[in-house]
Amino acid sequence: MIERVKSILGLGKGDVDPVALRPESSPTPKKEGEDKWMEVQRLLVAMPDEEREALMAENRSDCICPTCPSYGEPSAEKSEALFCCEGKSQSIGVVVDCLCSGCEVAERMGMEHSRYCMSGNEREQRGL
Ligand code: SF4
Ligand code: SF4
Repeated sequence: MIERVKSILGLGKGDVDPVALRPESSPTPKKEGEDKWMEVQRLLVAMPDEEREALMAENRSDCICPTCPSYGEPSAEKSEALFCCEGKSQSIGVVVDCLCSGCEVAERMGMEHSRYCMSGNEREQRGL
């Protein structure tokens, strides 16, 4: 199942598959100026719940926040991760460094920001 989601997302091609992102079930057509993150969000809305949950579980597993110097024991105890999607940390108070730019989830999902644990998820940082 996850392989099908990856295929739909066009992972490994460096960009999202523009045809797969506009299935007949897609609620909205691609808009002028839409970037990868926006395309992925549109696909996520159209995706069956089961596939969306599987993709997000894989993203959480691939998140490298637990290896970041800003991430401490309190975050580990709460199993915090995937701040780019789930929002700010309940534990992290200072960003010492941020590894998001080298994370495969950021590439996969079209993330454009960083320091999500303190600044909020991608949607919040876009002011949406
Ligand atoms: S982009 Fe940052 S917050 Fe998102 S999964 Fe990767 S390391 Fe975690
Ligand atoms: S969001 Fe960035 S700064 Fe915060 S823990 Fe993850 S990698 Fe580190």
